[in-house]
Amino acid sequence: MPLTRDDCTALDAADALAPLREQFELPDRVVYLDGNSLGALPRATAARVQRALRDEWGRGLIRSWNDAHWIDLPQRVGDKIARLVGAAPGELVVADSTSVNLYKVLSAALDLQRQRSPARRVVLSERSNFPTDLYIAQSLARDKGCELRLVEFDQLAGALDEQVAVLMLTHVNYRTGQLHDMAALTRHAHERGALTVWDLAHSAGAVPVDLNAAGADFAVGCGYKYLNGGPGAPAFVWVHRQHVPHFQQPLSGWMGHASPFQFSPEYRAADGIARYLCGTPPVLSMVALECGVDTLLAAEPLGGMAALRAKSLALTRLFRELVDQRCAGHGLHWVSPHNDALRGSQACLTRDGGSDGGAYAIVQALIERGVIGDYRAGESGSPDILRFGFTPLYLCHVDVWDAVEQLHAVLDGDIWRDARFSRRAAVT
Ligand SMILES: *Cc1c(COP(=O)(O)O)cnc(C)c1O
Repeated sequence: MPLTRDDCTALDAADALAPLREQFELPDRVVYLDGNSLGALPRATAARVQRALRDEWGRGLIRSWNDAHWIDLPQRVGDKIARLVGAAPGELVVADSTSVNLYKVLSAALDLQRQRSPARRVVLSERSNFPTDLYIAQSLARDKGCELRLVEFDQLAGALDEQVAVLMLTHVNYRTGQLHDMAALTRHAHERGALTVWDLAHSAGAVPVDLNAAGADFAVGCGYKYLNGGPGAPAFVWVHRQHVPHFQQPLSGWMGHASPFQFSPEYRAADGIARYLCGTPPVLSMVALECGVDTLLAAEPLGGMAALRAKSLALTRLFRELVDQRCAGHGLHWVSPHNDALRGSQACLTRDGGSDGGAYAIVQALIERGVIGDYRAGESGSPDILRFGFTPLYLCHVDVWDAVEQLHAVLDGDIWRDARFSRRAAVT
């Protein structure tokens, strides 16, 4: 029996996580399938930022660094994020952007390896890794006389030879949604003498992550995607405690100093992860990020990340089932893995016809109809992608039904072929 919209309504009525959606300010008649790129606005954020502005800054002025505990924000919000990624309190801080944090940890990992095994000069990564990760690695490889070696997903394990210093991967691929087995790859990298750097941009708040159980070495992650911290929210950085006595901070700013307020002319690194701070924390962005992280911690009494993961998989499975039922014959193909164990929290499709397949126009037509997903251009032979992120905190089963209904309408009515959705229209 094909599913109906009423079946989806019944699934929502039985969903213990459904009330979590009330934490968000979402516009009416919008199905938001882009929380993997920019999370939604929590209801609590506007009032909290307002309080930080009016009371803490306006009245408290500089006293608020202490009275309103601004100075503790990187650690306090870091400890909350730690709960989502299998890190212990005091192991993770919020600072800078994902790109900058990646620079800091990759530099540290390469320095550690230079002391231990100077012959290892290779950073190994995936060709389809997110560009900023590759650009940062290219820059560090140039400065440190190393080489960036890029291979495909299934060649990674085999490419871990005696030259590899660091295996640098994004846990969930931003285009395909493919999920690496962090524990297995980390174990394999360690057996082969390499350290691991994990980018959790599409994992933190989306899939369960257990950095300590996996024995990972370094990790970074993004604040504005599944953590709902708002546009340009600061990012986070984590280092395994075994490296804490040894790792270096290449951006040795005063906030990472052991005693920043002694204003000593000599840099002396703070103990632990605090040395990964560089400059003054962006307080307004940090308080907004804290509200975003709190929306995920609100799921803890309901089963936390494991329950959110189960719902995310149910939503991506439902999407697939409905697309296969209702959009058959329209030349769509799945890019995201069918196997639950290999899929993050997004579902991605291509359409026959390469760059003429209309992926861009289909996404534009869907956005006009209130279904916000996104489009990622294919490069070097890989196809254009229609990308839909499924955020279990604020999406329900009926949203999935309604999104597929619109996709069906856009394809079946050839609506996407209208000139206003063409890429040429967007350029002008
Ligand atoms: C989103 C994303 C980033 C973002 O980096 P910024 O410094 O915040 O621009 C980095 N890496 C990956 C894998 C991402 O998905």
